[in-house]
Amino acid sequence: MKRIYFDHSATTPVDPEVATLMLEYMTDKFGNPSSIHSFGREVKKAVDQARQSVADLIGANPNEIFFTSGGTEADNLALKGVAYANRKKGNHIITTAIEHHAILHTCEYLEKQGFSITYLPVDENAMVRLEDVKNAITDQTILISVMFANNEVGTIQPIKEIGQLAREKGIYFHTDAVQAVGNYPIDVNEYNVDLLTLSAHKFHGPKGIGALYVRRGVRLEAQQQGGGQERSIRPGTENTPGIIGLGKAAEIAKRDMNTKIAQVARLRDKLIAGIEAKIPHIKLNGHRTMRAPGNVNFSFLYVEGESLLLNLDLKGIAASSGSACTSGSLDPSHVLLAMGLTHEVAHGSLRISLGRGNTEEEIDYCLEVLPGIIEKLRSMSPLYGTEMQPMSSNPCNLCHRH
Ligand SMILES: *Cc1c(COP(=O)(O)O)cnc(C)c1O
Repeated sequence: MKRIYFDHSATTPVDPEVATLMLEYMTDKFGNPSSIHSFGREVKKAVDQARQSVADLIGANPNEIFFTSGGTEADNLALKGVAYANRKKGNHIITTAIEHHAILHTCEYLEKQGFSITYLPVDENAMVRLEDVKNAITDQTILISVMFANNEVGTIQPIKEIGQLAREKGIYFHTDAVQAVGNYPIDVNEYNVDLLTLSAHKFHGPKGIGALYVRRGVRLEAQQQGGGQERSIRPGTENTPGIIGLGKAAEIAKRDMNTKIAQVARLRDKLIAGIEAKIPHIKLNGHRTMRAPGNVNFSFLYVEGESLLLNLDLKGIAASSGSACTSGSLDPSHVLLAMGLTHEVAHGSLRISLGRGNTEEEIDYCLEVLPGIIEKLRSMSPLYGTEMQPMSSNPCNLCHRH
């Protein structure tokens, strides 16, 4: 059976050109970039080139790019680094209820360290309201962190406006742009961003490498100590194959950005329109237009997300759901709940995240098999039928909570 990969928000395949280049920097060109000899120098040159490529992708200066082990570490470094370097100025941080756990769990940690965190609510489209950001600011606020594009429902936030507001108030602004960088055009100056997180494996680079953009002049405290690499902000011998792979992925992403967005967004819109035409009792999650090019997220009422995923997998389609089943928990997504969905509607959610390798035929195939799977699952649901129950029944029948 042909397998179809519809989970690009989880990770993407490494571009063959990236993999080939990385192999060269593991075997032939294995030197330590800190070494003075030719083995070191040739790698140092390639690391510098990669830093330039990453900077070019987001409109930054290369000396504002710090390589990390990925998005999670860059998020930790941004929040903890700003918090500890600026604690004399204030102890308040503003973020949102729909952030990735790399942000949310770091904020919870900082709360235990004496920082005060405001988790902004979102509207039914997962959009942060500018007015809420404004009202949350106090004279203690040192940092605002709002993600660029949500990893579950794809909503793109008003980053430029939030950044403008932060700048006017003299507050640092960080954005977790892991879902956006390489998939959506970003310029840190246009968007008024002071710190930005990116991760290679979300745009056809390798896993375990990412970067934090830190605008010149931002006060940031290192979160680990060692040799002086990355100007002592993130010491440790560089992951040179990873860095060079990230640089190549950034170069390719910049080169192909416009054609890729057009192609992926067209497939996204076709899939959304097809599902809405063919399947009743559904709800599109996330903003209809301010949406990541590859994101499709629906709730199918009277359907349980995990069963839907398993049935799609049997048909060769790899997608994702909103419930955090990987962690062994039946709790639905914090993002969908923050948008005001009931537990039961949130439980029936499906995320399909498209990438540059997906084709029109794959969309057609999905539209062919999905209605039948939904119908089959609904026919087994005690809630579905001639006397349909309202989905807002409390408590939740699926996770026995409300
Ligand atoms: C994937 C992801 C991360 C984590 O990045 P890793 O490189 O996997 O650690 C953080 N934030 C968002 C929005 C993501 O999608």
